[in-house]
Amino acid sequence: MSTITLKNIVKKYGDGFPAVNGVSIDIADGEFIILVGPSGCGKSTLLRMVVGLEDITSGDLLIDGERVNEVAPRDRNLAMVFQNYALYPHLTVYENIAFPMRLGKNKLSEDEIDDKVRLASAMLDLDEHLERKPGNLSGGQRQRVAMGRAIVRDADAFLFDEPLSNLDAKLRGQMRTQIAQLQRRLGITSIYVTHDQTEAMTLGDRVAVLKKGELQQIASPRELYEQP
Ligand code: ADP
Ligand code: ADP
Repeated sequence: MSTITLKNIVKKYGDGFPAVNGVSIDIADGEFIILVGPSGCGKSTLLRMVVGLEDITSGDLLIDGERVNEVAPRDRNLAMVFQNYALYPHLTVYENIAFPMRLGKNKLSEDEIDDKVRLASAMLDLDEHLERKPGNLSGGQRQRVAMGRAIVRDADAFLFDEPLSNLDAKLRGQMRTQIAQLQRRLGITSIYVTHDQTEAMTLGDRVAVLKKGELQQIASPRELYEQP
């Protein structure tokens, strides 16, 4: 778990108008923040800078108080859940979830991996599907596998990039509830990007509204509802 601090973050692509223009947000340990706004307002750019997939033009990004602007993505220990799932089609659900635990210096033993896969798949209702491959799963199941893979990493934070936008309305509703429950249960700091108002108003502790690269307001869903 971690705090994430954005201090006056700016992103310029070329010499055009900044895609992100001086955004500051303090995200508390365990907090669930939603970034919302119309297409092109800079949500994905902001998220990609936090995870390290995009350079920060100016400003500071702190994780647990430490400046990480130049830290490589793999050393930031953040788990990103993408809209297009990014699953390995030739691997089973089990192997897809286990995959991150088989890599790098902190490789886990097979027993530890097995425990974690079982736990994650129980949380996500995937127990019955562990031997299937992504091509045989529904969109919702695939999205749950992608979340399973994020959970087992013991990351300091989750970053969600419109994870439900490829699902139909009914499934979106179900997954929304599941993500909210999971986030509360794990108490893990999360940033969730969406252009969907319902998701913004039901999922998070606070909603950050972006417009043309700037933070327009940041408030709890209740405070936003009560505004005239
Ligand atoms: P979304 O915001 O839903 O991801 P976009 O069409 O905004 O969809 O972006 C899709 C991809 O294209 C992103 O990876 C983004 O970095 C890139 N992109 C968006 N706008 C531009 C642009 N003006 N020039 C170059 N690449 C862009
Ligand atoms: P959102 O996620 O809110 O749709 P983006 O962060 O994708 O917004 O884009 C913010 C602005 O930055 C848009 O004007 C987009 O065209 C521009 N942009 C995004 N990615 C790139 C890129 N790789 N190159 C140039 N411009 C980009």
